[in-house]
Amino acid sequence: MKLIEKLKTALLGTNNGEIRDPDGIYFYVRCSKCGAPVRVRADRHHDLEHNFENGGYVWHKEIMDGACFSLMYATVHFDEAQRVMEQEIAGGEFITWEIYQTLIQSA
Ligand SMILES: [Zn+2]
Repeated sequence: MKLIEKLKTALLGTNNGEIRDPDGIYFYVRCSKCGAPVRVRADRHHDLEHNFENGGYVWHKEIMDGACFSLMYATVHFDEAQRVMEQEIAGGEFITWEIYQTLIQSA
């Protein structure tokens, strides 16, 4: 029973509500047109591309928000340990998880 509870916690998220997902890296963005918040997941094994030129990894993502359906284009650079080094986005902005929570709760 204890193990099941632990698994449940691992699948459903930590106490503060942020998802625990060792294979996923989560980004929170906000549409610059309508302000809608969007959560995007990058899979460490499938979505990150090796950056052969500069080392590390790079992730390109087209993100569509569910409110006005405009596209945002995100590019994130990672080091060899898949830590975020640099992130840029067109059509929106990166926001923190805390801001994301506030926005979806007030929506
Ligand atoms: Zn929008």
